[in-house]
Order: sequence, then C-alpha cells, then structure tokens
Amino acid sequence: MTTTTNRAANDVGSFTTVLGWLNNAVANGARSPRVKIRTTAGLMGFALPRNRRPGDAVLFVKIDGNYVGTIRCASDGSRFFPRGWVAQGTFEALRAIGDNPLAAAVGHGHATGNCSFCARDLTDPRSVSVGYGPICAGHFGLPWGEVGAAAARIAAPRRAPVVTPVAPAAPDLVALRAAAVAAERETAAAAREEFEAQQAVRDAQARLLSAIARRDRAEIAADAANTALRNAEGTAFVPVTETIRMSSGGTTYAAHPSGEE
Ligand SMILES: [Zn+2]
Repeated sequence: MTTTTNRAANDVGSFTTVLGWLNNAVANGARSPRVKIRTTAGLMGFALPRNRRPGDAVLFVKIDGNYVGTIRCASDGSRFFPRGWVAQGTFEALRAIGDNPLAAAVGHGHATGNCSFCARDLTDPRSVSVGYGPICAGHFGLPWGEVGAAAARIAAPRRAPVVTPVAPAAPDLVALRAAAVAAERETAAAAREEFEAQQAVRDAQARLLSAIARRDRAEIAADAANTALRNAEGTAFVPVTETIRMSSGGTTYAAHPSGEE
C-alpha cells in the first residue's frame, strides 16, 4: 500500500499562522497590520481584507506592492487564488512561507536586516538574532528573548535559509548598448544641424555684404545719373523728365517730353 499526498495545485501550505499573527495584531490595536517577507518572487506582503467579517480566514497577497491574489486559509491546507497571471516562482515562494511561516519571517529579518512586521531596521542584537523586534513580537504574538532566539534557530537554521536573498538584477547590456548607439546618433545629427545652420549664417552674411556693396554702387551711379540729368536739363532745348511706372513685371523707365503724362 502506498501513501499519496493529495495536495491541490494551489495549496500553498498553512497560512493559518500568518492569519493568527495578523489577528493578534488587530486585537492589540493595530489598524492594518502587514507581514512582509522577501522572496525570490519579490517582496511579498500579507494583510487582512479591509472589509472582513468575523471568522473570515482570508489573506490578501501583494508582491512588490501590487495585489496578486487571495489566500483562503483552512486547516487542511491554504489555497492561493491568483488574480490573474502571476510571476514565475510565486507559488513556490508562497509554499516556502506556508510550510514554515516563522522561519520565513526570521529569514527575512536575517536577510534584510528589517523586521518582517514593521519593516524597521533591526538594531538590537537580540532583534537581529531573532529576526524581528520585541514590540512586534508582543503585538503579533511571536516568541521573543531567549525563547525567541531558540525558536529562530530552530525555525531558520543559517545553513538552510528559507528566504534566498534576491541577487541584484544583471545590467541589461543590450539595452545599454542600444541607448549608447542612439545617443551617438543624436549627437552626430545635432552636430550636422549645427554645421548646416552656421553655413547658412555665413551664406546670409555674404549675401548681406554683397547687397550692401551693390546698393552702394547703385547709389553712386544714381547720383552720377541725376547730376548728369540736371546738367543736361540746364542746357537742353527740350527738357526730358524721367518717370517711373511700376508694373507687375518690374520697373519700367520711360522718357517723355516735359509735361506729358
Ligand atoms: Zn517590527
């Protein structure tokens, strides 16, 4: 005869302990207690639903601050109902906590230096050793002091930590290279635009100087022409008047006998 463990696919161990901690904290006056445990799937947070009825055995689960689903706690196994798609490793991380919640909380304190229950830095050597602080131990109903240290040692032996510290993400070399190439291209494009703009300024300055010189020459020529005309008017038998007619095609110069339109 063989024994089979009939564990449901969404069975994540026993979260009645975590539920009990949170209920203790509420009984001790905490308004919205949380238990946070760092896992390979992210920073997991467990909380009681805001609108809960007496006897509800439900936990809300967040990963890195985002709600990911609900755990329904029961004596024969707690089941996780994800809200939708959940990151790989979520179920495994939940089971690691559900199989030994105290070890997970202690392991979080050891791995992060922060209390699982209030997120404060653990400074007291006894807190560092136990993995959470004395105030939270009182509120949540956890072992503390010598008993706590012993419980922590039993719950989370250092040689086999339940919570694996999350390694910092490797730099995304492909994205960094792409960003560097894009920045180089942008630099080249901006330099080209600057050069073209400077060239346009030089061209415009050359045209300006050319126009000034042309105007100067034209003024000298106009003075000379007017002088010649005045001299001629003084001596000619029939004076000639220069009239200027504007037309759409340009300026038309026409010589007419004096007085005629
Ligand atoms: Zn604390």
